[in-house]
Amino acid sequence: MSYRIAVVGGGPAGLTFARVLHRHGHPVAVLERDPAPDARPPGGTLDLQEGMGQLALEKAGLLEEFRALSRPEGQALRILATDGTVLRDWRPGPDERANPEIDRGQLRDLLLGPLDVEWGRAVTQVVPGTRDGVLVRFADGRQETFDLVVGADGAWSRTRPAVSPVTPHYTGVTAVETSLDDVDTRHPDLARLIGDGSLAVYGVNRALVAQRNSGGHVKVYAQFRAPLDWHTDLDLADAEAVRSSLLALFDGWAAPALDLIRRGTAFVHRPLHVLPVSHTWPHVPGVTLLGDAAHLMPPLGAGANLAMLEGAELAESIAAGPEDLDEAVRAFEERMWARAGRWAKITTAGLERLVSPDPSEALALFDRIRSS
Ligand SMILES: Cc1cc2nc3c(=O)[nH]c(=O)nc-3n(C[C@H](O)[C@H](O)[C@H](O)COP(=O)(O)OP(=O)(O)OC[C@H]3O[C@@H](n4cnc5c(N)ncnc54)[C@H](O)[C@@H]3O)c2cc1C
Repeated sequence: MSYRIAVVGGGPAGLTFARVLHRHGHPVAVLERDPAPDARPPGGTLDLQEGMGQLALEKAGLLEEFRALSRPEGQALRILATDGTVLRDWRPGPDERANPEIDRGQLRDLLLGPLDVEWGRAVTQVVPGTRDGVLVRFADGRQETFDLVVGADGAWSRTRPAVSPVTPHYTGVTAVETSLDDVDTRHPDLARLIGDGSLAVYGVNRALVAQRNSGGHVKVYAQFRAPLDWHTDLDLADAEAVRSSLLALFDGWAAPALDLIRRGTAFVHRPLHVLPVSHTWPHVPGVTLLGDAAHLMPPLGAGANLAMLEGAELAESIAAGPEDLDEAVRAFEERMWARAGRWAKITTAGLERLVSPDPSEALALFDRIRSS
């Protein structure tokens, strides 16, 4: 039996889900709010782990293409003290493939491939249990029905209210993102400092992280503990005002670290929100969630990996042609909740240590990860 299936959102979760279904010859409507693939900057780099994001790409038949595009050298990590002392300097071995990096835009294009995404289709509401199935309402006033609607529409999901009343809450940590372009030519000193992968500096309740993307692009994240309204006296659209405010927050740090802020080109405010650890819901026939829509957690290298693996697993269980689609979805949810709950605990504890009153906790965390 062929089911009418829609996935809301064309991020890592939705595209992996659609791509694996496509591989198995199963039609799926991909409903994406953005008017076009390049409607907004795709974001920074993602590290895809062997047993999660890479496994999902294998299920989509895309592992070889990923290997050709990804940057194993991006696994390098250098950690500095706030006075500039190098505390750790890890570089991957020649065959290390556990967590290579890939630009989000490259990953999106890889997943898109032959998919026929419906761009510019912002979903406003999902209503389960109507006579003809699950009703999806769009911002342009149109509506359609499906047998299964998969909400892969991220942190502020419009699908989630169909299954759960829970909304994300603020972690107490804010990130402000800035970028350096053409770093090897325009900022060779910072290029050397950052190396091939990431540079991190941990201070009291503050962190600066710089991550190399492809093409000499670097994303810098200034992270700090602050109330959500920390910027009330600041015009976030005024780059120079944001720069000064960040330089004041990181006052006293070594000059090369501060140069990451001084030379950054634009600033994007990203307060970190999460869903409660182990977010679950009473199963609702015909609707489920994947990725950040289901389990938004601190951005510590798990979110996209989980999102993709979930997308691939749900697609495979649908492609296997279950007698009862709803039972297959219910079994998938149990598996997703158990795994995501474990990662939500790990990343929540991780954020506490990385942006912490005691910066030695960050170092201890990385030492533990590296030795495990
Ligand atoms: C700075 C940063 C760094 C990170 N680094 C990593 C990392 O290295 N590794 C890792 O695993 N994770 C990382 N993460 C987490 C990761 O980005 C997310 O977990 C991941 O993007 C979740 O994928 P998703 O498909 O569930 O949601 P999203 O990526 O948010 O995609 C949701 C999609 O749904 C669309 N959409 C939203 N609303 C609607 C609507 N109403 N109608 C239709 N479409 C809609 C959006 O336009 C978007 O395309 C990082 C996060 C941040 C912020």
